[in-house]
Amino acid sequence: METTRHEWTLTGLGCANCARKIEAEVRKMEGVASARLDFANSKIYLELDSDQDADGIRERVKTIISGIEPGCCINDTEASESDDRMHFRKRIAIYIAGLVIFIAAIILPGGSWPETLLFVTAWLIFGGQVIAKSFRNILKGRVFDENFLMTIATIGAFILGEYAEGASVMLFYQVGEMFQEYALDKSRRSIRRLLDIKPEYANIMTESGPVKVSPANVRPGDRIMVLPGERIPLDGRVLEGHSSVDTSPLTGESLPRDVQAGDEVLSGSINQSGVLTLEVTKSYENSTVSRILELVQNASGRKAVTERFITRFAAKYTPAVVGLAAMLAILPPLITSTPFSQWAYRALVFLVISCPCALVISIPLGFFGGIGAASRQGILVKGGNYLEALARTETMVFDKTGTLTTGVFQVTGIVPRPGFTGQEILHYAACAESYSTHPLARSVLERYGDNPDPARMDDHAEIPGKGVRARVDGKQVLCGNRKLMGDYGIAADEGASAGTSLYVAVDGVYAGRIDMEDTIKPDAASALESLQAMGIHDTVLLTGDVRETANEVAGRLGIGRVHSQLLPQDKVTVLESIIEEKKGSGPVVFVGDGINDAAVISRADIGIAMGGIGSDAAIEAADIVIMNDEVGKLCDAVSIARKTRRIVFQNIVLALGVKILFLIMATGGLATLWEAVFADVGVALLAVLNAMRVIKTGRSRR
Ligand code: ADP
Ligand code: MG
Repeated sequence: METTRHEWTLTGLGCANCARKIEAEVRKMEGVASARLDFANSKIYLELDSDQDADGIRERVKTIISGIEPGCCINDTEASESDDRMHFRKRIAIYIAGLVIFIAAIILPGGSWPETLLFVTAWLIFGGQVIAKSFRNILKGRVFDENFLMTIATIGAFILGEYAEGASVMLFYQVGEMFQEYALDKSRRSIRRLLDIKPEYANIMTESGPVKVSPANVRPGDRIMVLPGERIPLDGRVLEGHSSVDTSPLTGESLPRDVQAGDEVLSGSINQSGVLTLEVTKSYENSTVSRILELVQNASGRKAVTERFITRFAAKYTPAVVGLAAMLAILPPLITSTPFSQWAYRALVFLVISCPCALVISIPLGFFGGIGAASRQGILVKGGNYLEALARTETMVFDKTGTLTTGVFQVTGIVPRPGFTGQEILHYAACAESYSTHPLARSVLERYGDNPDPARMDDHAEIPGKGVRARVDGKQVLCGNRKLMGDYGIAADEGASAGTSLYVAVDGVYAGRIDMEDTIKPDAASALESLQAMGIHDTVLLTGDVRETANEVAGRLGIGRVHSQLLPQDKVTVLESIIEEKKGSGPVVFVGDGINDAAVISRADIGIAMGGIGSDAAIEAADIVIMNDEVGKLCDAVSIARKTRRIVFQNIVLALGVKILFLIMATGGLATLWEAVFADVGVALLAVLNAMRVIKTGRSRR
C-alpha cells in the first residue's frame, strides 16, 4: 500500500525509556506502516497508509505520548518555547515550596504526627505527577513503569515507618530528573548547532530590487543576491561579483575559495567578502545544504548494534529486577528467621534502581554527537551503525585514481604514429572523451582547451575500465588503454615507462598515444602513515590502471597489497574475496571517489566516497561521504568513531556498574533508598555529560 511520511517534533521528551515505549506503542497503531522515534533529535517519524487521516493519527499519537510521558507533546506551535519556560518556572516554584516543608519536617522532633504529616505533604508535592502517572499507566496495563516503581518504593518506605526517606527519594528523583532534562536539552541544542547550516532566507532579485524570501520559494533560473557574511541559500552560478567563499560548514576545509563570474557555488557555504549575484541552478530541496541536512538528520535512524542491544536489554531489565526484589522480600525471611521489614526495605532499594534510564539515555546521544562532530568536519555519516563499524575496522581498501591521486592528469607527451600529427591525436581523443566523466577524459579536454564541436561527432559509448568509443568526423575512434585496443585487435606500442597512457585508434588503425601523469594527493602519504599507526594494518590498492603505475603509487604510500588492471566488476570480486578473508576480524572499508566505483562502494561493509561534494552518485551509494578530497579526513573519521565508541562503552559500564553495585549493596543491607536514587539519577546525568564529550573531537582541530 502507498504510504505518506510525517515528521513531528516533540517537546519535553526527557526519558529515553519512555521514548522506547512510545515508539513501540505507536508502531502497533492501526494505519501506521512504520514509526521511529529519534530520541536524540526529539522527533518522531511516521509512515502512514495513505488512506489514513493524518490529523486523526496525530491526535491518537498525542494521547499515547501523554499517557506515557505527561508533559511531553507534539509541537504544534512556535509559541511552545515560552510555554516551556513557564512550565519550568512553575515547577521550580512548586519544588521550592516542597523543599521548605521537607526541611520543616526534618527540624520538627522525630516521631511526632505533625512531622509525619509534613513529610507526606512534601512527598505529595514532589511526587504528585509521578503518582498520578503511575495510576494512569496501571489502568493501561503498563505495570513496570518507573513512575509506578517509584510510587511503590516510597509508599513501601512509609509503611515501614521511614517517612523522611520516602519523601527524600521523591525529592531526589524529581530534582535529578529536572537536571537530567536540562542537560539533555542543552546537549541536543549543541549537537543541533553543529548541524546548523540551514539558510534562513534568500534575497531574490525583483524589478524593484532585492526581496527577502524563504529559500524554498526560489526556483532554478531565479537571480539572488548574497551579501558579505551571508550564507549562500541555494546552489548557483556566479553572474556578477567576486568574493571568497568559506566552505567549512560543508567540508570542514578552512581555506576559503575565491569565486568570480561563471563559478559554481554551493548552498551552505558563507560568502565572506564581496557582493555576489547568483543564478540559482537547483531548487532548495535539491541544493547541497538540504541534501546534507536530510542525510545527517536521518542518520540516527540507523541504529548501532550497541543501541539495539541496549534497547532490548532495557525491556527485560526492569521486570527482572522487580522479580528479584519480590524474591528478596519473601525468601530470606522465610528461610532464615530475620525480620520481614529488614528484607522489605532492601527490596525497595531494588525497585528504585530498576529503571534503565541512565543506560538508555546516553547511547543514542553519544552516537548522534559523533555524527554531529563528524559532519562538522565535512564527514557525513549515514548512521550510528557505520560509526560503530568504522571504529572496529582494520582493513581499508582504496581506489587509486581520484581517491589517492588528485585525478588531474598532466599530459607529459603525445606520441603520434607516422601519418598522424599530435594535434590530430588530441582532437580525436578530446572528441571521443567529450561526454565522459572519467578523470582521464576531463584532463584530455582540459589540455585540448576548446569545447569539441558537437556537429563533428556522435555515437559515443563508454566501456568501463577500458575507455571510450565514438564516431568523429565520420571515422570510428577508440580511445582507452591497451585492453581496449586488444579487444579490437589493434596492435599498440608499449606505453611510457611511468604514468598512464591513453591509446587512440582511428578506423581500426593505431594512431598514437597520449602519455599522462597523475599526482598523488599531498596529504596521502602522511594520512596512510597515521592510519597504520591507528591500527589499520591492512591496506589494499585496487585499480584499473597498469601494474607499473599501481605499484609505484602503492610503494610511495606504503600500501601493502596491490591489484591492478581490474575492470569495475573485477573490483567487486576482489573486494568480496577480501571481505571473505577478513571474516571475524572486523569490517572492510572501501574508499573510492564515487565516480565509477559506486558498485564497489555499496558492496563494502563500509563504503566511503571521497570528494562527495556535488556528486549525487557518491552520496547515494556511500555509507560515509567525505565532502572534500583530503585523505587525512579518513583519520579524523576513524578517531571520531573510536571516541564515540569509547564514550558509549564507558557509559554502559558506568550505568550497569552502579546498578549492579547497588543491587549487591542492597542485598547486604548496605544501601539506603535515597542513596540509590541519588546514584541512579547521578549516573544518568554523568552519562549525558560524558556523551557530550564526543562533540569536542570535532572542535579540537579547528
Ligand atoms: P581506476 O579508477 O582504478 O584508475 P577505472 O576503472 O576508472 O580505474 O579505469 C581503469 C582504466 O581504464 C584507466 O586507467 C584507463 O586506462 C581506462 N579508462 C577508463 N575510462 C576511460 C576513459 N573514459 N578514457 C580513457 N581511458 C579510460
Ligand atoms: Mg576511479
